[in-house]
Amino acid sequence: MKYYSTNGQAPIADLKKAVVKGLAEDRGLYMPEEIYKLPRQFFDNIETMKFQDIAYNVASNFFGDDVDGDALQDIVYDTLSFDCPVVKVTDNIYALELFHGPTLAFKDVGARFMARLLRYFTSTTSGTSITSTTSKPINVLVATSGDTGSAVANGFLGVEGIHVYVLYPKGKVSPIQECQFTTLGKNITAIEVDGVFDDCQALVKSAFMDAELNQHMKLTSANSINVARFLPQAFYYFNAYARMKALGKADELVMCVPSGNFGNICSALFGHEMGLPIKRFIAANNANDIFYKYLQTGKYEPKASIQTLANAMDVGDPSNFARILNLYSKNGQRNAEETHQAITSLISGATYSDDQIRKTMQQCYEETGYVLDPHGACGYQALKDGLKPGEIGVFCETAHPAKFKEKVDDILGTDIEIPARLKAFMEGEKQSVAMSKDFADFKAYLMRQ
Ligand SMILES: *Cc1c(COP(=O)(O)O)cnc(C)c1O
Repeated sequence: MKYYSTNGQAPIADLKKAVVKGLAEDRGLYMPEEIYKLPRQFFDNIETMKFQDIAYNVASNFFGDDVDGDALQDIVYDTLSFDCPVVKVTDNIYALELFHGPTLAFKDVGARFMARLLRYFTSTTSGTSITSTTSKPINVLVATSGDTGSAVANGFLGVEGIHVYVLYPKGKVSPIQECQFTTLGKNITAIEVDGVFDDCQALVKSAFMDAELNQHMKLTSANSINVARFLPQAFYYFNAYARMKALGKADELVMCVPSGNFGNICSALFGHEMGLPIKRFIAANNANDIFYKYLQTGKYEPKASIQTLANAMDVGDPSNFARILNLYSKNGQRNAEETHQAITSLISGATYSDDQIRKTMQQCYEETGYVLDPHGACGYQALKDGLKPGEIGVFCETAHPAKFKEKVDDILGTDIEIPARLKAFMEGEKQSVAMSKDFADFKAYLMRQ
């Protein structure tokens, strides 16, 4: 499969290059030239298949041209060492729980898959790419305000030939999140930046653009712009469809995705392009309503992000919007109006303030006993507000409520239990490198590695 850039100014790439580089030379996002449909028989029997086998079928359909079948199967099976169950919340609303991975965040699947695919492409024996293989280690730089850092660090932990640097703002990350990437050791280095999240992101961006540094070491990024990180999230939606079909409830399925950078919903839309029979989608936002506004007006107007209770969705310029636009413009064949129409006929939006999020969490808990986290709450409420008669809704519960324990307990008056997996991180010893927000300091540090 060949990959083009959404900005249209970069050379066509193969999968290996798209995964190793992450972003195209023209700062655009890589898109596959074609998205193959899965055969009808696959959907006829899907409810009899288990998660890993469903995922392997989806992965081969997408990556099969470029990755050897046995290796791909190992990558998929190794990535999905946990389940993503669909749980009934009300008669017509189900939660797709994506938080049963190692860091209790849905980003675990994408991070684990990407780590393994990167390893496959950089190990000397594999990879069919025209670019030469190399034994030089790859260095993954990731800036985090919490969740991404822990998922990426744990996804790449112990993966040979890859070193991860997690940059996080000193004192701005919750203790539970911090311990998930500062206690790991091995190939994971936590860098505590004396600044805010934007400073961390600026350091990472400057590093990618610094010619001398890129000569010195191989650098790549692991955020959801990377094909290998966002696409595997499509596995969830095929699996959710299968589980709902087994219940006889898949005929008019509405998928609702709490969205920030729009990587997760983008993977669901790619699934839809592969033939997944979802009737329509809802993108649920917190107060950061840029996509919601786009749906209403056809105008995309990025803004500075607003801090909310659902902080992993505090994004003012969602990076995967370019991918969604490119998908429904058919790479520029449709004009802006036709593209907007194609998008609004399949996707609707919703936006919720912190007050509404609190109210939703309380109401859902009182009426059903289900504990929502602030991100999942946006998804649940969007279904409550948006489902039509006859439709069944599935929303993604993107984080375990214990990750936001202080907030959730405060809102619900509960004392929710911290899962053992999370507690284990909290017992480890914190190790991090102190760093100023000056790029010169960060560069000097990396040049010594
Ligand atoms: C990352 C994240 C989101 C947003 O996902 P996108 O793919 O960026 O849209 C939602 N909820 C949680 C808990 C997250 O960590």
